Parts: sequence; C-alpha cells; structure tokens
Amino acid sequence: MIDRFGRPIEDLRVTLTHVCNFSCFFCHMEGEDSSQSLLSPEEISLVAKVGIEYGIRSVKLTGGEPTLRRDLVQIIKELKDKGIKEVSMTTNGVLLSTLAWKLKEAGLDRVNVSLHSLDKQLFKEITGVDALDKVIDGIKEAIKAGLRPLKLNFVLTKKNISQLDNIINFAIETGVDELHLIELHPVGLGKNTFEYHEKLESIEKILKEKADKIEIRSKHYRPRYHLNNLVIEVVKPYANPIFCAGCNRIRLTADGKLKTCLYRQDKEIDIIDILRGNFSLEEKIELIREAYEIAIAIREPNFKYRVENYASS
Ligand code: SAM
Repeated sequence: MIDRFGRPIEDLRVTLTHVCNFSCFFCHMEGEDSSQSLLSPEEISLVAKVGIEYGIRSVKLTGGEPTLRRDLVQIIKELKDKGIKEVSMTTNGVLLSTLAWKLKEAGLDRVNVSLHSLDKQLFKEITGVDALDKVIDGIKEAIKAGLRPLKLNFVLTKKNISQLDNIINFAIETGVDELHLIELHPVGLGKNTFEYHEKLESIEKILKEKADKIEIRSKHYRPRYHLNNLVIEVVKPYANPIFCAGCNRIRLTADGKLKTCLYRQDKEIDIIDILRGNFSLEEKIELIREAYEIAIAIREPNFKYRVENYASS
C-alpha cells in the first residue's frame, strides 16, 4: 500500500528496548522518549504479520541495545515463522561474539554493527565504554556465522572524522560487506550535540572520484560507492527531501506505537491498547489493520522539496 506521496511501506523498524550498555553521546533513541515498556515476542510478530498485508517484507531490530533482550532468539524465530523475509538487527556488537551463531540459527539474516572509532580512547569517549576489542571480536564472529551482508554503521562527527580511513581499511581487511557513513541527526541527544555535526559532501566527492561503480539504492535513494569489494553507502537524511522521498520505513516503538518517521512524534498511532486489550485475535488483527491504514494515511516526508528553498531571490 502506497502513501499520499507514492511511497510504499516495506521495512518495519522495531525498537526492542530503550536499555543500552553503551551511552553514545549523540544517541537519537530512534526518536522515542525513554520508557520501561517492552512488547512481547508475540505482540511484535503480530504487528509484523499484519504489516505483511500492507507490504512489509523486512524487519530491523534496534534499541537501545537489542542484544540485551533475553528473548531475542524467540523474537527472531517468531518473526521468521510469521513470514518476514529478512530479519536484521542493528547492534553495538559488544555481545555478538557469544550470540552470533545462536542468532543465525534462530533465523537472523544479517547485522549492522555500529563502529565509530578504531582508537580505543576515542571509542570510549564516544560510547562511554572501553569495549573496542569486544566489538571487533563480535564483528569477526558475525562474519564467520554468516550474518551477511555484514554492514558497519559509522556516524560521522567532528570527533571521529580522522578515523574514517582506518575504518575503511579495517572493513576491507576484515571482509565486511558494507560501510554505512551516517550523518549525525539532530534527534534525541543528537539535538544537544549537533555542534559535532560534520557534512558528508567533501567525503562523497572523494568517493565519487575513487569508486569503481556508483549505484543508487531505492531505499532513501542512498548513493552506494563500490570500492575494493566494499560498498560505502551514504546515509544523509537531514534536510534531504530526496532521502524522505525514498523512505519505505515504518516503525514500531518500544511502548507499542506505529511511528511514521524518526523525526515526528506527532505522527504516531498508539496500538498498545489493541495489543493488550480484551479482544479476540481476529478483532486485534482487524484493529491493527486499521492502525496501519491510518499510519499510511498520515505518513509524510519530513523534509519536502519546495521550489522556494531553491529559487534565487
Ligand atoms: N544500540 C545499537 C547500536 O548502537 O547500534 C542500536 C540502536 S542505535 C540508536 C541505531 C543506530 O543509530 C546506530 O548505528 C547508531 O550509531 C545510530 N545513531 C544513533 N544516534 C544517531 C544520531 N544522532 N545520528 C545518526 N545516527 C545515530
């Protein structure tokens, strides 16, 4: 099903918890207020299953830190059993060396691992935790377990721009499949720390010159630069109408809301009373369908192209 702006929904991003074992100074918290709530594996998979009727094909698990959920294996199994084609997870990677094989066996298809520095001191300054070695072990184990394509998420800031070359070399040497260069979003803590925002334009200029091949992904129309068996994908959502025009994502918050955009807390449909209410399964499914239809109807690009933004005065 397509929204008023011609955009399908295909990808459900689920916040499993707000609890985290890192404290990244820029964390956007997926655009959510912190809460203690947790949806159960059955609740999450029911919402995902109904979403299939509206075009959902893939589910991304996030947080907080999703690997802190003790029932993560069950969540993944339920999502796969309900017919979700691709289940992936974004993680800080610190628990991956022990969990990778178990998660793969449960049906997890792939992971994005956040890695913002290869310098131990800077890693600790950014994440609040002295855990670089564990994260590197986690990345290697995830590759061995076949959680591929394995993607690294590197949020570019003034603090870590000097790390970029090291990260690219590390990715190539380790057999990482993709590196996502992510612009800092002014959301959550990112709003208070936006002074560290660094533009990606000059890096993209170099990538354009060096790339063997350049593609544009349909999701967010993200540019992808192929470089020595590594794909570097540029994720530049801020004030970018092209990114929003290609958005195929809808979100399920930790406290049970269908959220239509990272940036918008006014465009959410609260479905917790449906999930926890005294309804039959058929009634719940019908009410969740209605919620998806409302969410699709109110969904809109946060950044829209306006001629006046571009016309000379
Ligand atoms: N704890 C997990 C992790 O660290 O990957 C998953 C949750 S984290 C909120 C999801 C992704 O968003 C991570 O790759 C993280 O680096 C990125 N992220 C967090 N805050 C951001 C911000 N203000 N701007 C851009 N990306 C951000």
